[in-house]
Amino acid sequence: MFRIGTGHDTHRLVAGLPLILGGVLIDADRGAEGHSDADALSHALADAILGALCEGDLGTHFPDTDPQWKNADSLQLLARVSWLARERGYHLVNADATVRLERPKLGEYITTMRETLASTLQVDSGCVSVKAKTGEGLDAVGRGEAVTVQAIVLLEQS
Ligand SMILES: [Zn+2]
Repeated sequence: MFRIGTGHDTHRLVAGLPLILGGVLIDADRGAEGHSDADALSHALADAILGALCEGDLGTHFPDTDPQWKNADSLQLLARVSWLARERGYHLVNADATVRLERPKLGEYITTMRETLASTLQVDSGCVSVKAKTGEGLDAVGRGEAVTVQAIVLLEQS
């Protein structure tokens, strides 16, 4: 039996903050604002897995009102969600994510992001796809004010 889930996340970009995507620190002049480390890629993937399990969303499991999750390492949150999936008897078949960020270009980071996410999810990096797009100068992404991520995952009963 298969289950599919989607996730979406947006974070505001602010000067002077670090930009972390898929657990990888990006050399950028603006970083993502948020309660945890604001890793939109890890958040979208975790939400997609929770969606596939019909287990609500990240906010349900790790409320941003809980000081425990302040500046949390989002890879840890993703690892916990991945563990929940395995506990429910599912494993990840594949994940695909699209990051929308105006700058910098993410090409040089993609391989490291895929490897970092794959090791967090305990799958082969060939099961985790990360793609990067700009906002073509349009909308909040295009103006460099936000980073957004769309993710989709397929789980299979083990
Ligand atoms: Zn987020």
